[in-house]
Amino acid sequence: MRLTPVPGLPEIRPGDDLASLVAERVDLSSDSILCLASTVVSKAEGRIASLDEFPAGPRAREIAARLGELTDEEKDPRFAQAVLEESTELITEAPFLLTETRFGHVCVNAGIDRSNTGDGEILLLPERPSESAARLSEALSVPVIVTDTCGRPFRHGQRGVAIGWAGTPASRDWRGENDRDGRELGVTVENVIDELAAAANLVAGEGAGGVPAVVVEDFEFGEMDGSDEHFREIESDYVRQALRGWSYD
Ligand code: GDP
Ligand code: MN
Ligand code: MN
Ligand code: MN
Repeated sequence: MRLTPVPGLPEIRPGDDLASLVAERVDLSSDSILCLASTVVSKAEGRIASLDEFPAGPRAREIAARLGELTDEEKDPRFAQAVLEESTELITEAPFLLTETRFGHVCVNAGIDRSNTGDGEILLLPERPSESAARLSEALSVPVIVTDTCGRPFRHGQRGVAIGWAGTPASRDWRGENDRDGRELGVTVENVIDELAAAANLVAGEGAGGVPAVVVEDFEFGEMDGSDEHFREIESDYVRQALRGWSYD
């Protein structure tokens, strides 16, 4: 498998045709997969906002005040308001805002980004990243994965995850395959799009590098069945269920 950064992409602006900008710079073939940082998908879709567009209600002011006390750092209640508006559930509100976004992804601050955006601007995640991926996949005739950099529980540091995908299953199902001792695998469903997103994110970097698009070539999915299950439903999400009853105090 090879990962190749797409060179020379400009600063992306609302309305830009990302598919054409990529196609002008790389030759995609039938075994390519395109990974795109959500940052540029958001920029192209005009998901740039100013904090002034989110006048804070009482709930947002309360959350920001508490976070401000806990962290000894002033928190903008308009940012808390933006997080609330982008979310369907506030899972924890201290010491950070862990939410479910409107499209089912659980992350800190609804994935709202303040890096690689202009002064006073915030960048919201794409409204429906899998629909964005589907449009790009259609235009380019290759699978597309939309990534974001996220933290994770239990471990330090962040890494790339898939928040939208099209043209490839999310997972490959190893159940029924044999291990090296001939025992049949009973539970392993491997989330391939997160693994590819992490690899692409490693190439893209997090700073001023200007590499939001990475092409994966020669990845072999194999003969296994695929599945599109990605974000857990609450019924089978025991960690989230536990967090719902958890309080920071
Ligand atoms: P995220 O992981 O989706 O939040 O995206 P990041 O903000 O971490 O950026 C990922 C990569 O894309 C980094 O290499 C950035 O320098 C690059 N990047 C972000 N915005 C742009 C842009 O508008 N144009 C270009 N060429 N690169 C960008
Ligand atoms: Mn991000
Ligand atoms: Mn990133
Ligand atoms: Mn193993």
